[in-house]
Amino acid sequence: MPPRPDLGPKPRLGFSGSRLERAAERRSDAAALAGLAADARARAYVVGGDLIVMKKSLPLNDPLFTLSEARALGPAAETIFLGHLDGAGRFGHGLAPAAAEALKARDDLLVTDLRSIAVQGLVAPEHLPPIAEAKAVLHWHIRHRFCPNCGTATQAVDGGWRRDCLNCKTQHFPRTDPVVIMLAIDGERCLLGRSPRFVPTMWSCLAGFIEPGESIEDAVHRETREEAGIACGRVVYFQSQPWPFPTSLMIGCHAEALSRKIVVDRTELEDARWFSKDEVVTMLVRNHSQGLTTPPPMAIAHHIIRAWVEDEISFD
Ligand SMILES: [Zn+2]
Repeated sequence: MPPRPDLGPKPRLGFSGSRLERAAERRSDAAALAGLAADARARAYVVGGDLIVMKKSLPLNDPLFTLSEARALGPAAETIFLGHLDGAGRFGHGLAPAAAEALKARDDLLVTDLRSIAVQGLVAPEHLPPIAEAKAVLHWHIRHRFCPNCGTATQAVDGGWRRDCLNCKTQHFPRTDPVVIMLAIDGERCLLGRSPRFVPTMWSCLAGFIEPGESIEDAVHRETREEAGIACGRVVYFQSQPWPFPTSLMIGCHAEALSRKIVVDRTELEDARWFSKDEVVTMLVRNHSQGLTTPPPMAIAHHIIRAWVEDEISFD
């Protein structure tokens, strides 16, 4: 067997490891928030639905605007307090999606979706976590303008971290939707699948939303059985990743496969099959003979797969 190629230093996981101090205690302190907003070092990320607005720059674009620059781009549907970086306030300025779309016509701005920004590395990596934070919370605001309890219009409070219903007095908080993403392992082979949404050459871990009343382990067992017909035993938590499309948390796991015969659920997956460790190595380093690939380094699936390839995980 040829020696495995050196995979090099571990890549950075996208959207995680925020440098911001969220300073939750300041969210309800209007004077503190006003002081942070008035400070000359205050900056805002500008988000319009799925679109992020950046100042064009080389080699990396600049996603930070002064608060007056942000306001000049268009009125904010919501402004949220993201936290501070060494005392400099960071805010999310939520434009109407159509207003962000219209900014694509400007030569000095780059307006594109967050997935492209992360995959293509269009901004410095430290900006990805606060942009993910801003996008997820601003998306929640768009979807929670009315109280789910009584239907009355709700009002944003606490720097954008709560919406209150003034009629029935219910408080609503931003939500996160947990997703399990797992690699089922059978010795020197692992189970990868293809969603019809993937680029044609890409294979990845199976994944699915955790349902109410379900543990992480239960969800790993159920999703792997439903999508590929594979029964799993032991489940080991690996790492997690905020996934702001729109408000998920990816919970990465490795699972011990107990069965081998794959039965693909064609409504969920285009295909699923076993891959040898040697084949997966060529996919990670992008020299597979048929051009097959794993997801990009910014995605947790890449890290889950790589950890198994690098023998950090074994159920033997
Ligand atoms: Zn209400």
